[in-house]
Amino acid sequence: MTSASADLPVAVIGGGPAGLMAAIGAARQGIQTVLLEKGDRLGRKLLISGGGRCNVTNARGTAHIIENIPGNGRFLYSSLAKWSSDDIISFFTLLGVPLKEEDRGRMFPVTDKAMTVLNALQRELSSLAVDVRLRSTVSALDFEEDTGAYRIALHGESDTAVRAGAVVVAAGGCAAPETGSTGDGYVFAQRFGHTLVPPYPTSVPLVSNDALIVERHLQGLSLRGVALTLYDPRGKVATREEGDVIFTHFGLSGPAALRVSQYAVKLLQKNPGAQLKLAIDTMPAVARDQFLDNVRQWVEKHPRRGFRTVLKDVVGESRGSQASAGHAARIAMQDAVPERLIETAWRKLGFAADQIAADVSKKQVEALYEFLKHFPMNISGTLGMNRATVTGGGVSLKGIDPRTMGSKLAAGLFFAGEIMDVHAHTGGYNITVAFSTGYVAGTAAADYVRVRKAGTVCPTRFS
Ligand SMILES: Cc1cc2nc3c(=O)[nH]c(=O)nc-3n(C[C@H](O)[C@H](O)[C@H](O)COP(=O)(O)OP(=O)(O)OC[C@H]3O[C@@H](n4cnc5c(N)ncnc54)[C@H](O)[C@@H]3O)c2cc1C
Repeated sequence: MTSASADLPVAVIGGGPAGLMAAIGAARQGIQTVLLEKGDRLGRKLLISGGGRCNVTNARGTAHIIENIPGNGRFLYSSLAKWSSDDIISFFTLLGVPLKEEDRGRMFPVTDKAMTVLNALQRELSSLAVDVRLRSTVSALDFEEDTGAYRIALHGESDTAVRAGAVVVAAGGCAAPETGSTGDGYVFAQRFGHTLVPPYPTSVPLVSNDALIVERHLQGLSLRGVALTLYDPRGKVATREEGDVIFTHFGLSGPAALRVSQYAVKLLQKNPGAQLKLAIDTMPAVARDQFLDNVRQWVEKHPRRGFRTVLKDVVGESRGSQASAGHAARIAMQDAVPERLIETAWRKLGFAADQIAADVSKKQVEALYEFLKHFPMNISGTLGMNRATVTGGGVSLKGIDPRTMGSKLAAGLFFAGEIMDVHAHTGGYNITVAFSTGYVAGTAAADYVRVRKAGTVCPTRFS
């Protein structure tokens, strides 16, 4: 290989968490690094992640993180072994960003501000003298056979292409495109023979055409600590996810619904036009006997009261008893929740509005229990990419070496973050993927450039 490419920098395309960490990883190896970002600022998606607080990573360790990456988590064992959530935590602590652990191991900056995280990354880029170029939209990526350099064309600047000895493509997927991730990187990958698993929205709200939704009976109703079960068109359980949900004017959102969404998208891709059955268990820890017993006791205590009123107390108490102490306190404050749920049950089950408790049959109580345990919804779709949190699909992992994130098809080409066919649940897992693969790709890209500079290319390592 000629020396023409030996002194060239590592170029990183994309200034999201993956690209930022790739640039830091490369520059920490002492290799000149240039970061190309099309927006007028870095980390736009990072800034809105975790509700603007940036869920930096998850403290529960690699096995737990991989369990929460339903889209090809196993591919990441090697990357997470090299740059784990513990490494991410130490990295930020050393940069002066102390983190705190919240529920389910989620780690946030103590300041509760994503900007603190971004500022620390920017300071580190600056102290490593990374050449950060904003408003630099990469329009094409090519390889110069004669020099062995990558040639990166910038939109509107045809004469001033950037040349690089190695390239990390970290241009993101195409979810929330207003943040800059518009799928540009897929084209660069395809140019080098990489195949694409067609991108689809994940962690995205569910759509339902049920009358309850269309007529907006439940809009705004939020339920904490429910369990959602999604069935495939043959009636088999596709997934069961626990968490909070909120009914919207188009369907269902909230963390549990977002977790279900990737399964819904895949089932609907295979079965276009299908209506998927979703059952909401509004009190997952309440057993049938416990519920029937509670109702019996309340009816005996208040036989002349309206059954609906009695039920509100029973459901409130049952949902409260399934929760932890802190959670119970929150649920107890949510009187409106059971009430609207019960109104819906009444409408669905055709009970008389003025029915008194003493006249209630066992059959009615059982029907109610079934309704509250298996609140039925039909899911006809999801919202699109513009409302998705994460992109499923992307650059096929078949062409990527999990140890280095290097292309198996083009030496010196690396990938990091959401551009790859990897997607996780929200909870800091996607950002962990971006940081971990970014650091590994950046380090490996720098290694590649350094080895070439020394004139000792070892093809088995990189190709
Ligand atoms: C509202 C919201 C909330 C989220 N919350 C969470 C959460 O709580 N936990 C979690 O784990 N994940 C969360 N995510 C997902 C997470 O933010 C992403 O998975 C992560 O940002 C992906 O990082 P990335 O660097 O791969 O891509 P991105 O962050 O998408 O960055 C890609 C960058 O590349 C740039 N770029 C694109 N094309 C070009 C080009 N041609 N030339 C130059 N630059 C280019 C873009 O402008 C962008 O800055 C959330 C996402 C959204 C939208």
